[in-house]
Amino acid sequence: MVRNQTTLTFYGGVNEIGGNKILLQDEDTKILLDFGQSFNFGTDYFANRLAPRATNGLGDYFEFGLLPKIRGLYSREQLAYTDLKYTEPTINAAFLSHAHFDHVTHIEFLDPEIPVYLGAGTKLFLESMEETSGFCDYGEHKYCTFRTGDKVKVDDIVVEPVHVDHSVPAAYGFIIYTSTGTLVYTGDLRMHGSRKDLTEDFLRKARNCEPDWLICEGTRMVEEEKRKNYSERRVQKLSDEVVSSTRKMVFATHYSRDMDRFRSIYSVAKSNGRRIVVSPKTAYLLSKLVKDERLNLPDPLKDEDILVYFKRKKSGRFDEKDYYVWERHFMGKMVTHDFVHKNQSKLIMDLDFYQFTELIDIRPERGSHFVHSMSEPFSEEDIEDQVMHNWLDHFGMQFHQLHASGHLNRSQIVDLVKHVEPKQVFPVHTENAGLFAESLRDLQCKVRLAEKGRVYTIGQ
Ligand SMILES: [Zn+2]
Repeated sequence: MVRNQTTLTFYGGVNEIGGNKILLQDEDTKILLDFGQSFNFGTDYFANRLAPRATNGLGDYFEFGLLPKIRGLYSREQLAYTDLKYTEPTINAAFLSHAHFDHVTHIEFLDPEIPVYLGAGTKLFLESMEETSGFCDYGEHKYCTFRTGDKVKVDDIVVEPVHVDHSVPAAYGFIIYTSTGTLVYTGDLRMHGSRKDLTEDFLRKARNCEPDWLICEGTRMVEEEKRKNYSERRVQKLSDEVVSSTRKMVFATHYSRDMDRFRSIYSVAKSNGRRIVVSPKTAYLLSKLVKDERLNLPDPLKDEDILVYFKRKKSGRFDEKDYYVWERHFMGKMVTHDFVHKNQSKLIMDLDFYQFTELIDIRPERGSHFVHSMSEPFSEEDIEDQVMHNWLDHFGMQFHQLHASGHLNRSQIVDLVKHVEPKQVFPVHTENAGLFAESLRDLQCKVRLAEKGRVYTIGQ
């Protein structure tokens, strides 16, 4: 009798944080779990204006082995100038866990015939990115949205998406039923955000299915954590302390898709009688996300506490025609540098690093505040970090580092594995896969350290 076989191949997310690209094959059924871009993607060969040519499709990427040569995965157009022959799709579907770029970006290369399954909220994020960012195009796909409670059948495989808490809404883990056993994939997740209950739901379901294998993220699987990390609630409390103790301007910066953080800062503004000033991009994203009622986000067009900051463009006179069509939608909520300057004690403004030149026009009073609600820099030589501090010093602003990570810490990862009790664990999305083995040595489960591109048979 021929026994069924299930295999896993990791094309990304191995010895690196992000860039997850995992192929699951069960007999003749193949699905991709995420297809994201690595953080250091192409940096050995491309820099600044030396960039891969769009006209060459995947050719410039294959030259340096930046993406795997898999038959039946990519579109005809992308393969036109490569030595990989186009064939009809051999991959049945791609599943995206959440909308972070290190999990989704490379779907742009996929054959449009391959269905892309993603959370309903994740689709809104992708649409928003495509519409507001000039360089973002995920390509044509047959998108199929799911929610927790759905079970998606793809030939021999059934995928059950279950919500988790992460630093972007609409994040999911997957419970995957194959012909030889059950596989759990965590995606990215945490327990200290504002929706811990979602992750708990996922872990309960993952345990109940008595999984054979677990693919587990390990972003914070480190010997010793050096960077400061708070819970979401603590970020909100500490931000509130900054705002409630000043009558000066407060600026805040956070990851654009972290809507929990947006909500925290928005709540702090409201409870201190201030209004929040957001960029047209954030306003556009919010106006998309209000379509998903479960996210419970304010509508920027209706909420009186939300104002939209317009920079001077082209004519310099804030003429409608100076702005993109999608931006014009928010002109009724427009504030300019002049308004912000005159209302410093009544506002909190979202200001990311790349918009710092606005400070020259706004001219905040000395002693104003800047809440950096993002990860601390990864290295001491981080140039952007130095430049940011130079600007803050120049304008005499006070700096506050207040951030909650999107990921479980080391002991929480160990607790997760203990709770779920898989027979085998494949660490992914980590620079320290080896630490899994050390941290889990008292458990009954086997830690398998994947090599990039190697096929692992798991169903035997
Ligand atoms: Zn993520």
